Amino acid sequence: MKNILIYIMLLMLFNACSTDEKVVENNNTMQKKDYAIVLHGGAGYVSADNLSQEQKDEYFNALNTAISLGENLLKEGKSAGDAVEEVIAYLENQPMFNAGIGAVFTHDGKNELDASFMDGNTMNAGAVGGVTIVKNPIKAARAVMDKSPHVLLTGKGAETFSIEQGLDTVNNKYFFNQDRWNSLQRILDEEAGQGMELDHTEHPSDKKFGTVGCVALDKNGNLAAGTSTGGMTNKKWGRIGDSPIIGAGTYADNTTCGVSCTGHGEYFIRYAVAYDLSAKMKYKGLSLNQAADEIVMKELKEVGGAGGLVALDKYGNVAMPFNTGCMFRAYVCPDERIVKIWE
Ligand code: ASP
Repeated sequence: MKNILIYIMLLMLFNACSTDEKVVENNNTMQKKDYAIVLHGGAGYVSADNLSQEQKDEYFNALNTAISLGENLLKEGKSAGDAVEEVIAYLENQPMFNAGIGAVFTHDGKNELDASFMDGNTMNAGAVGGVTIVKNPIKAARAVMDKSPHVLLTGKGAETFSIEQGLDTVNNKYFFNQDRWNSLQRILDEEAGQGMELDHTEHPSDKKFGTVGCVALDKNGNLAAGTSTGGMTNKKWGRIGDSPIIGAGTYADNTTCGVSCTGHGEYFIRYAVAYDLSAKMKYKGLSLNQAADEIVMKELKEVGGAGGLVALDKYGNVAMPFNTGCMFRAYVCPDERIVKIWE
């Protein structure tokens, strides 16, 4: 009887360890990388044929510059949070991405920006929604986390808070971009003003770029994640997407993963995508890649939730799945560098 009990216990122990086997099967390492950083510039349907060589160079340059900026900070021993903030602020300042100065237009012809930030060590988080005058919304999101007792501030209140924090503010016209304006006019004509469109939807006359996000793992093993966006073209009624919603567009937990999402926000909110990635790892014992694929390539795809995500686990392994035609993305760790738009 005693022997049988020992046998059953050994069997249970073996099964409990099978999670580790799955990780190995996915070519993921269980040894923490010194540092790692991943970013995205949106997921969508831009085909390579519709971009000129000059445009491709422009995107690849921006992705390369951004990931190197983050890498250098992490190499110097800066925190994951600092790397995420700096990388996203850089991307917000590039007109080709749908965040900061490149933000898309609302139905009323304005720019309303959303951003969020999460620290995987403290599980603290901050976010802003629908801000119109904050130059770098990611800085406001981090300030909400660091300098207020709240997690999410919206509209005028978020702007007053940003001014009080001494953040750079601008006139809403600062965000004007002719290409984005053309996209709004086209969708107003084509869909009688009814539809709402992902910034990176294929259309020959548009330039396509997207929401930005970043996840970093620093030398101390801390994860941080952030996301920033102008949302979707032709959004109405103060619509806010997943990007500033902790657990939908952004999440970080040192014990599982950090993640930033991009895509049709309503689906990412309904399916609590960012938190679900962490939960699948925590409660189902899936590896980062298994969990990310299950969500993006099965669950979201089946219901028409277009988009993707970038994520790091606590070892610095990366996942970058997308169920659209492309996703602007880059990943760096000491022994690997990936900068891609298409498969
Ligand atoms: N997720 C963003 C939103 O729905 C859009 C995007 O990722 O491009 O607002």
